[in-house]
Amino acid sequence: MRQNRPIRSDVKGKRLIQREPIDATSWAYMKLLRENDKTKKIYPVDPYAEVYQFRENMYGILTISADGMGDPWSFLIIGPEKAMLIDTGFGIGNLKGLVDEITGGMPLIVANTHCHFDHAYGNCQFDRCYCHEYEVEIMNSKQDPHIWDYLFDENGKPIWLEFDRNDIIPFKRYEVVGVPDGYTFNLGGDYEVELIWVPGHSPGHAMYLDKKNRNLMAGDGIISMRVGISGNSPYTRLTAYRNEMVKLSKRMGEFDHIFPGHFIVDLENTVIPSIIETCDAIIANPQDYDFTHEFRGRQTYLKGVKGLGTIGYSPTGI
Ligand SMILES: [Zn+2]
Repeated sequence: MRQNRPIRSDVKGKRLIQREPIDATSWAYMKLLRENDKTKKIYPVDPYAEVYQFRENMYGILTISADGMGDPWSFLIIGPEKAMLIDTGFGIGNLKGLVDEITGGMPLIVANTHCHFDHAYGNCQFDRCYCHEYEVEIMNSKQDPHIWDYLFDENGKPIWLEFDRNDIIPFKRYEVVGVPDGYTFNLGGDYEVELIWVPGHSPGHAMYLDKKNRNLMAGDGIISMRVGISGNSPYTRLTAYRNEMVKLSKRMGEFDHIFPGHFIVDLENTVIPSIIETCDAIIANPQDYDFTHEFRGRQTYLKGVKGLGTIGYSPTGI
């Protein structure tokens, strides 16, 4: 398979195998950001993470994917009294120590956009994690010390990322708290972050609206490369995704910038109408895709989103 050219970084954890080539725009952006951004910092407490300061009180934490897919972002918002961490990565390294160091040990709210490996396997280093109520059951089903086994081959060697197995966080059970669409977290004073339910990528997939910074942390619901919509739930159908994106588009006056769970961050909110346009075209004729590929053993159709990337969907999941 074609591999992208390398990105220089001193982060611990070197990619061994990339399972899928990254699109040219996303790769070029990440290369420029990671090699040149003046705010980039690797803290000794967690050598697996690159930290970027995107706003005065908001940081992006990037780790290298442990399973050969796109590198995930976590975001840290520092409010007047509390900090909020959105997504927890793969659970390799010391994210909790890193966050405590950046915030100076502030009280911390931890919340997930969704339950997937690259966004929630770091949860068990915290006592309590919030998510949308439809995500609770899957989140709890992944409270298991064997969730990391798939990262290793039969000889115990990591398959996709060179890292030390001892750097996986110790497993412990934690409390999963499901909250409804529109639930608001208060970070002190009038600093509010609202959970907005946008299913599709997973049944309880959530975005988080930082009302002060006018930022939307979009998880995997908006991605510069490919938004993947698939699954067996009524909430992972393309129509469910499209309907909530339409509701979100009515709130575009509340945010200007979008910070997705992978690749390009600080996107313009104008990508939302483009996504809806593509959804409508797919719903009108699911066979009118731009190209198709096999992804994780399933045939996926892909259709372009103007100025962004693609939507990946299954013809039976409309
Ligand atoms: Zn992801």
